[in-house]
Amino acid sequence: MNSLFAAKAGKPPPENAAPAAAPNGAPQTPGGDAGANTFMDQLTANPLFTGGIGLILLTGAAQLARKSVTTAATHLRRQMLVTLEIPSTDRSYDWFLHWMSTHQQTQQQQSLLNLPTPAPRTLSSLISRLQPQPRKLAVETKVTQHSSGSFTTDFSLLPGTGRHLINYRGTFLRVERERDAKRVDLQRGTPWEVLTITTLFSARHVFPLLLKEAQELAVRLEEGKTIIYTAWSTEWKPFGKPRRKRGLASVVLARGVKERIVGDVKSFLRSAQWYYDRGIPYRRGYLLYGPPGTGKSSFIQALAGELDYSICLLNLSERGLTDDRLNHLLTKLPERSIALLEDVDAAFGNRRTQSDEDGYQGANVTFSGLLNALDGVASSEERIVIMTTNHPERLDEALVRPGRVDVRAEIGYATVEVVEEMWERFYGRDSIGVEVPAAKTVAIGEAEAEAEVQMEKGELDIEEEIERRKACKKEFVKRLTELGAFKGEGWGIITAALQGLFVYFKGDPERAVLEAEALIPQGVKG
Ligand code: ADP
Repeated sequence: MNSLFAAKAGKPPPENAAPAAAPNGAPQTPGGDAGANTFMDQLTANPLFTGGIGLILLTGAAQLARKSVTTAATHLRRQMLVTLEIPSTDRSYDWFLHWMSTHQQTQQQQSLLNLPTPAPRTLSSLISRLQPQPRKLAVETKVTQHSSGSFTTDFSLLPGTGRHLINYRGTFLRVERERDAKRVDLQRGTPWEVLTITTLFSARHVFPLLLKEAQELAVRLEEGKTIIYTAWSTEWKPFGKPRRKRGLASVVLARGVKERIVGDVKSFLRSAQWYYDRGIPYRRGYLLYGPPGTGKSSFIQALAGELDYSICLLNLSERGLTDDRLNHLLTKLPERSIALLEDVDAAFGNRRTQSDEDGYQGANVTFSGLLNALDGVASSEERIVIMTTNHPERLDEALVRPGRVDVRAEIGYATVEVVEEMWERFYGRDSIGVEVPAAKTVAIGEAEAEAEVQMEKGELDIEEEIERRKACKKEFVKRLTELGAFKGEGWGIITAALQGLFVYFKGDPERAVLEAEALIPQGVKG
């Protein structure tokens, strides 16, 4: 046993051992250096001690090496890799996610169609054939309500959270979709998300290419469609899938109404310079009024389609829509869009009782808040606001004064021309022979079924049929006139109801004439 352990164990030190410490604490080192040498010698001679030091040194060296490798790798990665971040607040976020799922599907289909494939000759052809399959997907469900009241649901499979590898033009990209549950994306009301795309620095040129492709895909999907936005917190968010554009010809209004409004909007859109030169806010307000079901919404949709604009739908009665939010929303309309405030009268009509009952006083838009928002400093873009109401007489004069409402148009009960035009759309020359029999018409539309059989046999004389239908139209209008539908005595024919009757008696004009009375409101009939 060596001296160190011997002293600890309380044994007397061997004779050649160093003398014990002096009473004053200073070691007795007769001969100075000789004593130190002996101590160092003892330490170095101790295999456990030297082993420990060696171990410490080795661990330190290993740690240093590891750290250097990590630092070098990080440095190298920084030098060799490049990342692109797309936060969920950016428009490219959705475009990229949809593009990525479409891209992966296309690649998958191609690889299925190409089977069996010859062996790749070059490395790049091998790489371009390697298409990693997505392992984690997220579903995006869109429910669309049609004007008929029916719903359709669409599912899109998008890349889920986590890491994904995609191959784009022979370049591998690592895509990481991260979600931060603690932060909320106010635009969507969903947790904050970010997409990080990483690739080799040398391949950074693919970023603008794929973003462009993603944007073009989004535009292609929206082509020929009208996007409807709704307000979500302080942002506008697309509502459901873009709807197929509605043609102006499909909305039948009293003579000149459509032409007047469409002409006015188009002329306004051409006059930006005129407004700027005169320092006038570049905006225009429209008020469409008339009974429900006469085509106000349909016309606005068709107008948006004609202009290739979107519609931003705002419900003024919505809980929590404060004056500030309204103001903010109207100044932040998406590009090329029409702000639509439906049923403006309803927003303020029963405010007092609503507020008292629900204790929501002050939580909604106030009338002065609406006026301020309409007058507010508009953004540099043009602003078109269309308001609709079923009760124009209930509107405050302040709301409809020029500057807030520049054009007023009545979309009223069907006139004789409207009834005739609607008739032509359902029973005119173009509809003969293309009236697809519906389950209902098998029972009630014998005339249509008969006409079809005759057409198939070549027995139906088209010109004769047209004449017959013309006579029915005359009879139909005469019948409605007799019933007082065009007198303007506070009631009239609702175009939506007319459409309902013609759809019900599709291909059977005689039955439509017989049932014309069904168009007269209950109260009037009674
Ligand atoms: P409003 O907004 O005036 O209440 P809508 O535009 O919602 O009326 O019309 C409801 C339904 O009736 C729609 O399916 C629409 O196609 C049809 N409709 C109503 N008016 C017309 C019209 N003037 N021309 C063509 N279709 C109409």
